[in-house]
Amino acid sequence: MSVDLPIYLDNAATTRTDPRVVEAMLPYFTEIYGNPGSRNHGFGWVAEDGIDTARQQVADLIGADRKEIIFTSGSTESNNLAIKGAASMYAKGPAGSTGRGHIITALHEHKATLDPCKRLQKEGFDVTYLEPGRDGLITAEMVKGAMREDTILVTIMWANNELGTINEIPEIGKLCKEHGAIFHTDATQWVGKMPTNVNTDNIDLLSLSGHKMYGPKGVGALYVRRRRPRVRLTAIQEGGGQERGFRSGTLNVSGIVGLGKACELCAAEMDSEQERLLKLRQKIEQRITSELDTVQVNGHADKRLPHLTNISFGFVEGESMMMAIKEIAVSSGSACTSASLEPSYVLKALGVGDDLAHSSLRISMGRYTTEAEVDYAIDKIIESVKKLRELSPLYDMHNEGIDITKIEWQAH
Ligand SMILES: *Cc1c(COP(=O)(O)O)cnc(C)c1O
Repeated sequence: MSVDLPIYLDNAATTRTDPRVVEAMLPYFTEIYGNPGSRNHGFGWVAEDGIDTARQQVADLIGADRKEIIFTSGSTESNNLAIKGAASMYAKGPAGSTGRGHIITALHEHKATLDPCKRLQKEGFDVTYLEPGRDGLITAEMVKGAMREDTILVTIMWANNELGTINEIPEIGKLCKEHGAIFHTDATQWVGKMPTNVNTDNIDLLSLSGHKMYGPKGVGALYVRRRRPRVRLTAIQEGGGQERGFRSGTLNVSGIVGLGKACELCAAEMDSEQERLLKLRQKIEQRITSELDTVQVNGHADKRLPHLTNISFGFVEGESMMMAIKEIAVSSGSACTSASLEPSYVLKALGVGDDLAHSSLRISMGRYTTEAEVDYAIDKIIESVKKLRELSPLYDMHNEGIDITKIEWQAH
């Protein structure tokens, strides 16, 4: 079977918008263009109908009530609203004082969680950054160990965006309930792919994003629990009082309609997709680890998303690898932060060394990924790693049994 190049295997970065989603959105640009906030004429009412339907579709996907869904511009905004909004609302002391309350998060969270937490530290909150195990997981036991009398908020992502590892969310949520701390989860990589129920999973606040689940970019939602307990938040963005005052600003009607449709499609196709993608992931991991030596799959063996794998290749240089497989779109373990090429802080948090982190690939499949594409990508990766290693004196030494970590290099 032939494949078209390039091949897209970076669905954890963003997904193609499903054409059925685009179709649902289109009328909301040119026909149903009213402002849903216009309560006194039909143009507003029909736009509002579209919003209502979408709100229900999002709520249904996560087992929530539609009144608990706040539309935002995406998960970055949802995380900011959840974390800063809850911290400010449940703070122990006034702004400017210290000891305003304790927050628990993890070292390998997304920047959209870490940076709001850092901001709160500057504003007088204490933040504990949990260190994951070598398997990448954050367990309820770890959270329990960090829990304090003054813990007001715990924010732990559901599935990690670089590793696909799945944290113990229902258990962490239960623990937070017992301690009276608000529990937020960044579920951007989880929702739409895996079954979610905010009630049985013990969640108070949950972030999700359209473009990670075949919806449009620039739209997302925050789930805010209304009962047991009723979670309150200080608004970050103020103005017209839309979204029950949590998020002012004219609603992105077409985007929200698209997000709703994306949720409906994910719910309908989740089971079969999970099964299909897990088989493909297992094929990738099985072939790469059996046909190449000195490779490791990062993160827990089973507690990982079906469609994502992160693999480190010893004795290849990350940049040469990316060049060699450039017709395959994947993410590398190096984050291009400004000019410097830093190894991924996520892999570092797991104790993966800098060299291996640099030569890591995140391969993330999706709804449009075919088995033929996966086969092509596996062949290409294996062939490229073999070629690059032929040129590597370190790999030769390794094969001769020399432990290169013990070599004392001469400084020139
Ligand atoms: C993509 C992503 C975000 C950011 O979402 P946007 O909608 O692009 O702002 C936050 N958290 C995780 C885990 C992500 O994967």
